[in-house]
Amino acid sequence: MSKFYIEKIIYHLQYLEYLLGDRVSKNLSDNNSAKKFVDFNNKKVLKKIQKKIVSKISILLPHCIQNYECNLKITNNINNCKNCGLCDISEILNLKQEFGNIDIKVATGGTLARLYLKEYQPELVIAVACKRDLIAGIRDCYPIPVYGVFNEIVDTPCKNTKISANKLKEVLREVGRK
Ligand code: SF4
Repeated sequence: MSKFYIEKIIYHLQYLEYLLGDRVSKNLSDNNSAKKFVDFNNKKVLKKIQKKIVSKISILLPHCIQNYECNLKITNNINNCKNCGLCDISEILNLKQEFGNIDIKVATGGTLARLYLKEYQPELVIAVACKRDLIAGIRDCYPIPVYGVFNEIVDTPCKNTKISANKLKEVLREVGRK
């Protein structure tokens, strides 16, 4: 069996472990499988891109990072953000200036995110999402290298979630930018 299929099976098994963990855990935060999965994947991604010059990087963000009251259509184009500072989008936008050729996309769901990746064909994706969406996305996108970062749920899930630009800067440095 080729390395591709073996790795694909490992990704499916880890996803299954996460789902089972959620079923049996009384408290969902006790389920450590998602973190394990993402750590395992991120190490693999770093190893894969180690000796390459990666020029086409995408940052994929969930829609819930946008301030809930903001009516601007940033899913069409993140540059529609007016930089008011009420959510993390404005700071994340500034990463383009600091790190150069990065495409930043806000997706309203997994299907649109996958469509975007198919069209844009990045060499590396840095994906931000909640546990379930992130690991399902990483699993489905394999073998595209997707470095996963969990967003922070501060209000209710799917509303006003957070990810600091500093966290993304750390990741960009880790994957060899600047
Ligand atoms: S920073 Fe941008 S996206 Fe966020 S609330 Fe302000 S204008 Fe809307």
